[in-house]
Amino acid sequence: MSSVLSCSCPRCRQGKLFQIPINIKLKKIMGMNKQCPVCEQPTEIEVGFYYGTAYVSYALTVALSVASFVAWYVIIGMSVNDNRFFVWLGVNAVLLILLQPWLMRLSRSIWISWFVKYDPEWEKNQINKEVVERIIPEQMNNW
Ligand SMILES: [Zn+2]
Repeated sequence: MSSVLSCSCPRCRQGKLFQIPINIKLKKIMGMNKQCPVCEQPTEIEVGFYYGTAYVSYALTVALSVASFVAWYVIIGMSVNDNRFFVWLGVNAVLLILLQPWLMRLSRSIWISWFVKYDPEWEKNQINKEVVERIIPEQMNNW
């Protein structure tokens, strides 16, 4: 869980998946290392590997919206007699937009953790070459 939240390599739990820490430079924050700088685990296992992160990101967004709704309901309250519901909608939308870069990175971290298992003896064990050979560099953006 801590390696997922810190966007670390799921295999060694030490190397970083992304080239730079999350910051205000939105153009570069999704740049991933081609492989883990510590254990050499490839971060893009196959062509279009991160396509499925849209579903993870959607689930995270729904979960956050439900959580903010419950928090709003408990702290501020909801009523059909005023516009508190619409204020929550606006606040929730702004919250989700502000958190989007972090949600996208977290989605990728969660996604790769489902396919790459932790290997406590990663220093002894070699990378599975069959998995690496599934990547054709010339076809990476052609799917
Ligand atoms: Zn690693």
